[in-house]
Amino acid sequence: MDILKILSRGTKKSASQLTIPKPIAKPSTPQLFNDPTRGVKRKRNEEAASTLEADDDLDEINFFAPRAAKKPSPEPEAKTAPKEDAPAPVLDDEEVRQVLRSHRLKFTLLSSHEEKKKKKVKKSKKKEEAKPKAKDSKKQLFPQPMTSFSELRSAYNISHRLGENLAKQGYRIPTEVQLGSLPLLLQPDRAISNSAAEELNFKTENGIDFVAVAPTGSGKTLAFLIPAINSVLRRRAGETSLKERLLEVVVVAPTRELAHQIVNEGRKLAQGTGVKIVGMKKGMQIPTEGQAAVDEESAAESEDEADSAGDDSEGESEGEGEQKKATITKTDILVTTPLLLRNYLKSRTLPTVKSLILDEADVLLDPLFREQTLGIWSACTSESLRLTCWSATMGSSIEGLILEQLKSRESPEIPLIRLVVGLKDTAVPSINHKLIYTATEQGKLFALRQLLHPKSSDDSMPQMRLPFLVFTQTIERASALHDELKFDIPAEAGGSARIAALHSSLSDTARSNIVARFRAGEIWVLITTDLLMRGIDFRGVNGVINYDVPTSAAAYVHRVGRTGRAGHEGGVAVTFYTTEDVPYLKSIANVIALSEKQAGKSSEESVPKWLIDSLPKVGKEEKKKLKKHGVESRRGAKAAKITTRSAWERRKENNRRGAIAGSKKRKTQEVVNDTQGQDDGEWDGIGD
Ligand code: ADP
Ligand code: MG
Repeated sequence: MDILKILSRGTKKSASQLTIPKPIAKPSTPQLFNDPTRGVKRKRNEEAASTLEADDDLDEINFFAPRAAKKPSPEPEAKTAPKEDAPAPVLDDEEVRQVLRSHRLKFTLLSSHEEKKKKKVKKSKKKEEAKPKAKDSKKQLFPQPMTSFSELRSAYNISHRLGENLAKQGYRIPTEVQLGSLPLLLQPDRAISNSAAEELNFKTENGIDFVAVAPTGSGKTLAFLIPAINSVLRRRAGETSLKERLLEVVVVAPTRELAHQIVNEGRKLAQGTGVKIVGMKKGMQIPTEGQAAVDEESAAESEDEADSAGDDSEGESEGEGEQKKATITKTDILVTTPLLLRNYLKSRTLPTVKSLILDEADVLLDPLFREQTLGIWSACTSESLRLTCWSATMGSSIEGLILEQLKSRESPEIPLIRLVVGLKDTAVPSINHKLIYTATEQGKLFALRQLLHPKSSDDSMPQMRLPFLVFTQTIERASALHDELKFDIPAEAGGSARIAALHSSLSDTARSNIVARFRAGEIWVLITTDLLMRGIDFRGVNGVINYDVPTSAAAYVHRVGRTGRAGHEGGVAVTFYTTEDVPYLKSIANVIALSEKQAGKSSEESVPKWLIDSLPKVGKEEKKKLKKHGVESRRGAKAAKITTRSAWERRKENNRRGAIAGSKKRKTQEVVNDTQGQDDGEWDGIGD
């Protein structure tokens, strides 16, 4: 079979199905406290989607409910505080199941003891696959969901100020992952009845360990920050003498950009509560036990991806300029990258930490970060430490690792509960996927230019609206592509300032600068590596281009998850591929097919079945290798060469363009509109 022929056929087919994306509209914010029938006993046998009175509103951020006509948006100024008098009802079992079903929430009790042995019995795969299913369904749990944020106050007794902060930021209706996880984390004994817990032989009174697998952009950050902030406040409220700050919560995230984002989110939520959230910084000292002397140099050594995670604005101990040796930063919640905290800790421990939160847990427990993450975990020596893990993807081996670790430290009654929202390891249903065969490396550049200049495109290309992200396999290729493209946006439209490359070999300041400019809408095309694929929330990203194919299905899910966030429709994910990428395609094509099936799109929309069938299967070991190394021919400095033209030629052409542009000064505005093919005036930046 000539794979090349088949692949070209694939291009044609998908080309004829390309659709012009709608401009991305902000989902109108659903009103939170507009629920007149709350507490009224629901009728049985209603349609699944109407189990919640607010379901129509929920459509805005409910990834899985059937799409209905959109309601006019509620009054934007409705900043009312939660109705504290309405007691939240405890739903009966049937109602709970219906709500969970309609939002596609599945809770499973993962028992650490039985699971451990399973790893070794993996010989006969087929038998394995059949068995866990039956087991899983036995261990399925049906905890109370939280159908409206007002319940946070009425049923879960969260701080008044925290509730107000949520409302102030326009959060009205909880997303699926929030709906499912907040009750369990805030009050597990309310969420799960005693009898249900007893039946399955666990207790909830001392909290739970938790794994949440929920789509990209579905609000996992709030789902872990609300309980984190609330637990600090609860302790303070309960103790009269110990009002001082104790480091209670550690949040670990794989990159400094993500850590920084979490700090900012957290500070908005904690405003006025007295809870302090700090990002770990190079040279910063935190209260620990054990070897007290501070080894400044070793802390400062911690380089690489893990630098200053937080925002400088609030650090109370940083002094002006130089670090003060004796000053210890006291905080309630610390957000850090793994290497930075691990290097600081060495043999020190964090005995006061009660909650360890791993955001993007599967990557934190991947071999790349495993040692550091496990090091931090074992430094949290408190017996009452609880772990929560969050990601859009979670391999079974990572789950196995979590179970094993927990087994070695927990008393058996603490349950590990897993929530999966929708189908595991799929992309957000609202994204439109396009696989584009470009034959050669040069073909990719050509195709990207067609996307950048939609006017010159034929209808074989999807139309993409700026801003978008472009992912490459290596730092060198990101830089080279940046060099190649930086003159593509005319000077009158901002020129090379509109395009930037972001990767880990840039300085810390340069990195935060670029992120800030992209958020502010000053940069339109951001070329990056997998550094940015996890967790980063740029609200208005209209498209993601995989210039180089992602090296795993999970990488695909996370990269394309930078668009279509918080219910935004119309995001486009384009993946270029050449013959060399064929080994990677099968798992990507499968993810796309599954995601579209879940979204209720007609089957074979982006990837026809015959294409999936014709792609070669790749074994597990091979997949690991592919993931680790990426496409061989794109590695190393030589492979970074993306253009065939010399820098001199490109500069010359740019100068020529500059001269032409100069002579057209008076027509600047028309030129801008013309070349962008869109009304830039309407685009008001990406937002934070
Ligand atoms: P995830 O971690 O699941 O990828 P984030 O926590 O980064 O997603 O959230 C994605 C976006 O959704 C953020 O911009 C956040 O402000 C927004 N968001 C979160 N929860 C809600 C909600 N309940 N209603 C509206 N928007 C929300
Ligand atoms: Mg996240």
